[in-house]
Amino acid sequence: MDDQVKKTDREWREQLSDEQYHVTREKGTEPAFTGAYWKNKAPGTYQCVCCGEPLFDSETKYESGTGWPSFWAPVEASRVQTETDQSHGVTRTEVMCKRCQAHLGHVFPDGPAPTGMRFCINSASLKFVEDKKR
Ligand code: FE
Repeated sequence: MDDQVKKTDREWREQLSDEQYHVTREKGTEPAFTGAYWKNKAPGTYQCVCCGEPLFDSETKYESGTGWPSFWAPVEASRVQTETDQSHGVTRTEVMCKRCQAHLGHVFPDGPAPTGMRFCINSASLKFVEDKKR
């Protein structure tokens, strides 16, 4: 089953703010400590801002001190895809939404237990949906 979300550049530009477009479709990075969610502690789900796929949960969010929302795991490993990123003279692992190929951020092997992973994600690539019943 192919549930990929594919849109033209023009459609993404119409749907997204300039910053959301730059981060998700041009692999940009928002400045640290500026995004909407780096210090958000409310319970809920973080969806892909482009396609609505639930990608991260507040249960796995932690304070990394970096100024970006940080998670030790995605909701399901199969919802994200990773690729080696050699830009800016360093080798990093890029994290993307598997469903629409939105750039989300990077993953580093210096996170907390239980995974030891740090998914360093741009607020601009996410849409938070609060779960008030938790
Ligand atoms: Fe997506």
